[in-house]
Amino acid sequence: MKKDIGNMGTHGCDFDSNGVFLGKLATGDFYKMKKDSKIFVSGHNGLVGSEILKTLKNQGYTNIITRSHKKLDLTNQIKTKKFFKKNKPEFVFVAAAKVGGIIGNSKAPAEFVYNNLQIQLNVIHYAYEYCVKKLVFLGSSCIYPKMCPQPIKEDYLMTGLLESSNDGYAVAKIAGITMCNKYNFQYDTKFISLMPTNLYGSSVDNYDLENSHVLPAMIRKFHEAKKKGKPQMELWGTGNPMREFLHVKDMAESAVFCMNNYEDYEQHVNIGTGVDVTIKEVAEIVKKVVGYEGEIVWDTDKPDGTPRKLLDVSKINDLGWKHTIEIEDGIKSTYKELLENHPLFK
Ligand code: NDP
Repeated sequence: MKKDIGNMGTHGCDFDSNGVFLGKLATGDFYKMKKDSKIFVSGHNGLVGSEILKTLKNQGYTNIITRSHKKLDLTNQIKTKKFFKKNKPEFVFVAAAKVGGIIGNSKAPAEFVYNNLQIQLNVIHYAYEYCVKKLVFLGSSCIYPKMCPQPIKEDYLMTGLLESSNDGYAVAKIAGITMCNKYNFQYDTKFISLMPTNLYGSSVDNYDLENSHVLPAMIRKFHEAKKKGKPQMELWGTGNPMREFLHVKDMAESAVFCMNNYEDYEQHVNIGTGVDVTIKEVAEIVKKVVGYEGEIVWDTDKPDGTPRKLLDVSKINDLGWKHTIEIEDGIKSTYKELLENHPLFK
């Protein structure tokens, strides 16, 4: 493959598979997925990756490649390079990451920094080296400062201090966004970054009480309280903080939408509903859906965390994407799926 990386702003890979120079002839459609384009979904066994895979299949994409963590450790530079060299994917979703809740992040912060930086360095760099047409990198809303004005706009990145409980993870994600932007600037690549809010909605999610996020943990707690016939169920804090939740199906739809339509190669984009609810309201919904009849007791001695965390989603909405699943319906379908499929809910 001919390369022209000496020229700033010229992506060295504007040649088609027959060696025909595309250069300036490459139109917007060149960077959109065709039904038979070769698409690599990394992290396809995880919450987001598995749903992106499903969405692509449902939309008729036929040439999707995946590798389990066991088969291809993306922190391994040599193996990742070999994978890209041999398989030459045209489009890449970076849904492989080391992900965890507050406890996981505070117990092993070094692992979160190391693994995420290493995955990103390898995947983003070799996507460039091996001429990937477009790449979607997934970050997280924890990249934003702890005391951010609400709702949080994309511009608020790096305007204040991060939440200390997961700042290592957040810094790694910020490095991923920066890599995409800088590669786009220097090499004219088309690498975009999406920042999703809190996700839920699948039996693939983590329901381990130590490592899970707030909503999956709540679903499991209510389920167990109901099963054991507990008259009371304790939840942490006052229940007053406000949070935003996005169903993972909507997340996956947005990732596929952005792969084909998002063209701001200098800035990331928020992905969420733009609507938040109090933790108390979420608890009431979960209680109703699970059918728990006891009482909720709020342990107000426990910390509440940030009072509000809501993404401004006007940028993605203006592009034509909006979430479709409202929280109560999303929790209902999640619980149904858990009862059918998840060993912890038998
Ligand atoms: P999961 O933990 O569910 O999935 C991550 C996947 O990546 C797993 O299949 C994991 O495999 C794989 N993986 C981890 N390390 C490696 C590696 N070294 N090589 C190859 N594969 C690896 O995470 P999510 O799906 O929840 O998250 C995906 C992305 O979405 C992340 O970037 C995250 O920041 C982002 N996101 C998630 C949110 C959420 O609420 N879940 C919210 C906002 C953003 P294995 O399990 O075998 O290690």
